[in-house]
Amino acid sequence: MQFKDIIGQEDIKRRLCETVRGGRISHAMLFAGGEGTGALPLALAYAQYVNCRNRTDGDSCGECPECYRMQRMEHPDCHYVYPVNTSKEAVATGRADDKPRSEQFLHLWRRVIPRTGGYLTEQEWYAELGIENQQGIINKNDANELVRQMGFKSFEGGYKTVIVWLPERLHEAAANTLLKLVEEPPDKTLFLFVSAEPEKIIATIRSRTQIVSLPGVPDDIVARELAAREGIAPDRAEWIAHLAQGSWGTALRMARQENTADADHQDRFIRLMRLCYQQKYLALFEWAEEMAPLGREAQKQFCTAALGIVRECYLTGIGMERIAYTDPAREQFCRNFAPYVSHVTVEAFVAEFELLLAQIRQNGNPRILFTHFAMSICKIIGAARAALKK
Ligand SMILES: [Zn+2]
Repeated sequence: MQFKDIIGQEDIKRRLCETVRGGRISHAMLFAGGEGTGALPLALAYAQYVNCRNRTDGDSCGECPECYRMQRMEHPDCHYVYPVNTSKEAVATGRADDKPRSEQFLHLWRRVIPRTGGYLTEQEWYAELGIENQQGIINKNDANELVRQMGFKSFEGGYKTVIVWLPERLHEAAANTLLKLVEEPPDKTLFLFVSAEPEKIIATIRSRTQIVSLPGVPDDIVARELAAREGIAPDRAEWIAHLAQGSWGTALRMARQENTADADHQDRFIRLMRLCYQQKYLALFEWAEEMAPLGREAQKQFCTAALGIVRECYLTGIGMERIAYTDPAREQFCRNFAPYVSHVTVEAFVAEFELLLAQIRQNGNPRILFTHFAMSICKIIGAARAALKK
């Protein structure tokens, strides 16, 4: 990660570079910023800048061997700690350890950081781990492993860096172990904590860090970068920036939703809603036949993406549509269907999605699951229509 990859936050980048040039690197820093402000990518870029052999005044070179390995998150002197967990099901079937450590999930971390540019939400991470309904934790095993690692000399003679993402999820025992390391750090170690809720970090750790607070990214910068980096039309980029409220991560997800699989999934659901409204029951079976071969991951993604449509219809119905829209064609659909996704039925919709998601996870027969799902959606819409006619 380089500073140029991070949206806005120019003042902070400049100050960070100055600490390195002036030899004033603090051994423990806390990057505190709300979701999508760029706290994690900034910490990653800073760690790379500190390690880079050919850094300029404003950024790492991106090409030296240190940069290369930092970018791939394969640098032997850089360690990553983040909340993890395993599903009870995975533990019960022996597929996972009941004392998970960050290292066991490094392959997922290396995949998700490049994909999101480091603009990763806690929920996205849990989805990556397959534990959407559980909270992750940084437990004592992770802290003990760090103590062990920090006892070694650095491989490359430079800094040993530890990036702790979401220290608010530190288990108490882990926090105490980590605190000792932060209080009496071995020579040339750099702790970079990255937090979305700094007030929830154990005070003894927080008080030993130098805090870097990230403000939200201004709308004009978000809009400009959406246009430049994602090819979004300027007027839409402005609208998305307004909705994202200072979060580049949110803006990016909204922009990409239009360009990626999510939009296809939402179209599939819109088609289903229309078939249900038109009472074309036979076509429902064809719809289910099309959904069945998509594969489990795509089917799960369908649930998340399609729920977005339910949400938009609902918000439209209660007169909050300005929060929701990113696209005019969808806006029309949501206006038309808003009466059927009311406070009376919205829970029924959500419950059907939850049921479908759970059954997909349990490897149910997709043809049966999606047929059942389609008929349930029909029932909800039919009942809503009947109620409206009264
Ligand atoms: Zn470099």
